[in-house]
Amino acid sequence: MKRRAEPASAVQTGETAGLLTVDLDALAANWRMLRDRMGGPEAGGACAAVVKADGYGLGAVPVARRLAAEGCTTFFVAHAEEGVELRQAVPEAEVFVLNGLLPGTAPLYRRNRLAPCLNDPGQAGAWLEFCADAGPLPAALHIDTGMTRLGLDAEDLDALDLGALGALPGLVVMSHLACADELGHPLNRRQQAAFAAVRPRFPAARASLANSSGLFLDDEFRFDLGRPGYALYGGNPTPSAGINPMQPVVRLQAPVLQVREIRERRTVGYGATAETAPSAWIATLAAGYADGYLRAMSNRGTVFIDGRACPVTGRVSMDLLTVDVTEAVQAGSEIRPGTLADLIDTRHTIDDVAGHAGTIGYEILTSLGSRYRRRYLGEIETARPAQGSA
Ligand SMILES: *Cc1c(COP(=O)(O)O)cnc(C)c1O
Repeated sequence: MKRRAEPASAVQTGETAGLLTVDLDALAANWRMLRDRMGGPEAGGACAAVVKADGYGLGAVPVARRLAAEGCTTFFVAHAEEGVELRQAVPEAEVFVLNGLLPGTAPLYRRNRLAPCLNDPGQAGAWLEFCADAGPLPAALHIDTGMTRLGLDAEDLDALDLGALGALPGLVVMSHLACADELGHPLNRRQQAAFAAVRPRFPAARASLANSSGLFLDDEFRFDLGRPGYALYGGNPTPSAGINPMQPVVRLQAPVLQVREIRERRTVGYGATAETAPSAWIATLAAGYADGYLRAMSNRGTVFIDGRACPVTGRVSMDLLTVDVTEAVQAGSEIRPGTLADLIDTRHTIDDVAGHAGTIGYEILTSLGSRYRRRYLGEIETARPAQGSA
């Protein structure tokens, strides 16, 4: 079948950039599923939501607002500044800041009702000192049980005023698993045991160990408060089991800009790293590595157009990528400027895309650029205060 590409006036969508659709109903279903794994509030188990890095690139504000409406009362961010933004969106919720208490930031925490994760004895001491003046304020105490990243060693506890820490309102005692996505990894059990040994020293606190994958280990990893991030956004928390129990949340589409019929063997893109067949159709899409379509996908990725798999051919460039649509065109697909290609969807998940790029889905999500038009399904609108006329 021979057909010239339509002129650009045939754009079907009115979009010149890609379209990122975030299904907040699926996100909410994922959160409910994880909360149920925690046993739910009736069983004393609660489930927080980790919304650092702008909700893993999907928008911390719409994500948190929707989860708060579902009943999620506890959120974790990485930076205090992320917490300040979140505070506006979920005024009633607890917001914990993972990266901890840097010198001079305690007033910022208090003003915005943010709870620092106290990651070393100095931070714990500084917070207690601040609270001696300001009154008791919430915090988390982060014990390192084997990650060697943030957190204090269990031995450090002996030098701290555990009575005063234990009396902080809403105290969470937490630790973080290094290998939760590897079911049988021996470090999991060692970390669980180390955390369980510390836990009784804070009888009034909530204990929190499990991230997304940790919630799929044995019951004794769950403690009181789950702390999932990735699985909320549809990522597979059980990669070794293969099947993803979560619902997909993200769909990424980019429009075709141009379709070219190739009538002789040619190379494609920078570095001439790919060569066409003597007769081929190549489509150029409006997404590139500046949009988080990683350059590592060059000659490796797949997109779907009209439901048909089209391999990425040639190098991904900053704003563009080229795909071989010969088979789709021969099968009768109408591909023209404006036709939307699926870069991430249910057939080709964030974990699949990550596999092609040689990375993890977390990096795919948090790399998603700011040029996409973002569409939220099931969004909770802000209740804006009425504009006073007086
Ligand atoms: C990012 C993070 C989480 C969430 O991890 P996921 O694997 O995305 O579920 C939980 N706890 C800590 C300390 C983290 O840094």
